[in-house]
Amino acid sequence: MPKTLEVVCTDADCKLDMFELHYTYDMPDDVGVGEFQCPYCRQSDSLSEVEL
Ligand SMILES: [Zn+2]
Repeated sequence: MPKTLEVVCTDADCKLDMFELHYTYDMPDDVGVGEFQCPYCRQSDSLSEVEL
């Protein structure tokens, strides 16, 4: 299975709690949560990967 990331937005003003990123097999290994933005507040530095 391609990797799935659970991501939380830690911005105090953001109403979004958690979302998932589902990768395809084509996603390079070095792509991490820092490459993405929160889909709600549009911040990129507030995202944090949840270690399951
Ligand atoms: Zn957010």
